[in-house]
Amino acid sequence: MKSKLFKSLARIFFLLCICNLALVYLIKRPSFILSVEDESSEYVNSRTLQDHVKILSENFLPRNFHHPENLDLAASYIQSNFEKYNPDTYLQSYQISESTFSNVISNYGPDTKEIIVVGAHYDAFSSHPGADDNASGVAGLLELGRLLSTLRLSKRIVLVAYTCEEPPQFASEIMGSFVHANSVSNKNIRLMISLEMIGYFSEEQGSQNFPVSILKYLYPEQGNYIAVVGEVLSFEASSLKNTINRYTALDAYSINAPSFVPGVDFSDHRNYWALNYPEIMVTDTAFFRNPNYHSPQDTFDTLDYFFMAELVKSLLVTLKKLS
Ligand SMILES: [Zn+2]
Repeated sequence: MKSKLFKSLARIFFLLCICNLALVYLIKRPSFILSVEDESSEYVNSRTLQDHVKILSENFLPRNFHHPENLDLAASYIQSNFEKYNPDTYLQSYQISESTFSNVISNYGPDTKEIIVVGAHYDAFSSHPGADDNASGVAGLLELGRLLSTLRLSKRIVLVAYTCEEPPQFASEIMGSFVHANSVSNKNIRLMISLEMIGYFSEEQGSQNFPVSILKYLYPEQGNYIAVVGEVLSFEASSLKNTINRYTALDAYSINAPSFVPGVDFSDHRNYWALNYPEIMVTDTAFFRNPNYHSPQDTFDTLDYFFMAELVKSLLVTLKKLS
């Protein structure tokens, strides 16, 4: 009798262990990369990244919904920088009440049915500089554009700088990414990558916070890595994570989580997700790490341009593989 009970308990314990391991695998998708491969041909200029972040975060303030004239100035800066290397660049403009708002779009490679979209919002919350949020993402986009223009691609890659991501327009149909996502129904989006704050890293113990406290047992509490966020059953996030860990000096972790986990859908990818396009978000985890989030202290000198350049390098490797 006793041994039967012991056997049943052992079985339950074993099953629980398997369930826990499966859950950890589903969320974290652990991988084991032992050495970093050199991809020296991918020359990403960290100084250029810094210059873009400084200009975007200092010259066009406030760049929010109530100041469309400053959004226009930021959009022209982005457009002219894309155009330096790629003439196929244009504004996607739309009207809200009396004002015009614009996404900046730059196309690379041939006009194929299947496309890959990489996007980042260029507006900033309130009157704050928004260096990490999200001049960093836009700088990454511009540097990607420069490098993509030198490549022979077999598939269309679309870089989009979005307007109107920040509250109170967030989660509304005014978002530039809502407008763009709904304008490409004639295309098949292979993957949408949202760059949402990619510049803040900290070596301090405890600098990384989490939306759900159990996650601190799965991820480092030192905020010195980039996070790639994906849908529960998708492998896109872990694939980019592996590329970052394989080809760069930056550490990456991925998380696959449903949209009710706070933060998981807090950027432009949400509008592609809603239309069932495959999407991921690349982020330094925003307010879960950066104490300057949505404040006047979110300035260009608080960011790490070496890590940002490493991330852009890994994005280029990924885009080359996908196209
Ligand atoms: Zn943002």
